[in-house]
Amino acid sequence: MYNKALNVLNIFHENGYEAYIVGGYPRDYLLGIKTLDIDICTNAKPKEIMEIFDTEAVSDVGYGSVKVIYKNVKFDVTTYRVDIKYEKNRKPIKIKYVTDLKKDLLRRDFTINTICIDKDGNFIDLLNGREDLDNRVIKTVGNPRHRLKEDSLRILRAIRFASLLEFDIDDRTGYFIKKYGYLLKSLSGSRKREELDKILTSRNKEIGRNLLISFDLCKYLGLNNLSDIVLCDDIIGIWSQLDVSDDYPFSKLEKETIRKVRELLNKELNEINIYRYGLYISTVVGSIKGVSYKIINNIYKNLPITSTKDILLSGEDIKKILNREPGKYISTILSDLEEKIILGELENNRDVLTTYVRNNYKGDK
Ligand code: ATP
Ligand code: MG
Repeated sequence: MYNKALNVLNIFHENGYEAYIVGGYPRDYLLGIKTLDIDICTNAKPKEIMEIFDTEAVSDVGYGSVKVIYKNVKFDVTTYRVDIKYEKNRKPIKIKYVTDLKKDLLRRDFTINTICIDKDGNFIDLLNGREDLDNRVIKTVGNPRHRLKEDSLRILRAIRFASLLEFDIDDRTGYFIKKYGYLLKSLSGSRKREELDKILTSRNKEIGRNLLISFDLCKYLGLNNLSDIVLCDDIIGIWSQLDVSDDYPFSKLEKETIRKVRELLNKELNEINIYRYGLYISTVVGSIKGVSYKIINNIYKNLPITSTKDILLSGEDIKKILNREPGKYISTILSDLEEKIILGELENNRDVLTTYVRNNYKGDK
């Protein structure tokens, strides 16, 4: 992948343009972390990038960024630019393409994200990012007062990098993270969720939580009970415990999962509930309640049935046994059988079930 990236840089060069790998890849490479995502910056304009790579899959994603698929690898290629004006402390509403790499690096968020690699694999470090990387410190490029105020997403990115990389946050950057934390109130739910998901799924989620608390950001993120929850390994399990507002976007399936997890959290994790909620929800709830996967899986594996389909008596059978027209009573009886089988009060055996239905429901109307 790295070699393909260097090929891409060389293709730019052969066409008369500059291009460098920038951002997360050089940073993580120097830290010995494997990264799948490679960002490239260039003085070629989006239209020119599209022309150079016209035989490959390219698409313009806006703000001077083009997705280039080169030999089956995707690269985010961005034209050198300066951001002129920001809207609502987040999106630049006006950008200007520039020809100078340094100007492009100056609009980036943190010094550790400004290190570049050139077409020959040399590191280019125009803003001393290497020094901060070696000192393991997150520092904004330029004045943190302006840089955090113009884009409040950077506040969350700082917390993300500090926790994932186990870096310190520079004092002045930290001071303004606290001061401008309130700007997170107007950051879109999807951007907040994206960053929080990364922070809270990482192995350093505990560090992330402590940073969010110590920088006093929870109230602006609507995560008032963050300090009280169990940081389990399932991100939906984490969201289920947070009293978050509708501000955060969740898919229909996620909402349904959250609802079920919350419901089961208030119930006992016994056979019948593990059966009713299924293995996944039960495991998530187990990880919150401190019940191991092994125990829950064992209970689940030993359930006599895992759905009503496994009951050895069908609706049709019940109808015949009772000699009645079809009706709602069938599902009532099936639920009764289901519960008694799970609780071990009835064996899942045709004869046993037939006798039970006959003795208990015959003559009902
Ligand atoms: P990762 O890909 O591991 O999440 P990254 O640093 O590569 O980390 P990206 O979101 O891919 O993050 O962004 C690529 C680069 O673009 C960053 O390294 C940084 O230089 C710049 N960048 C990203 N977001 C911002 C921002 N909000 N403000 C300023 N520069 C940014
Ligand atoms: Mg990246």
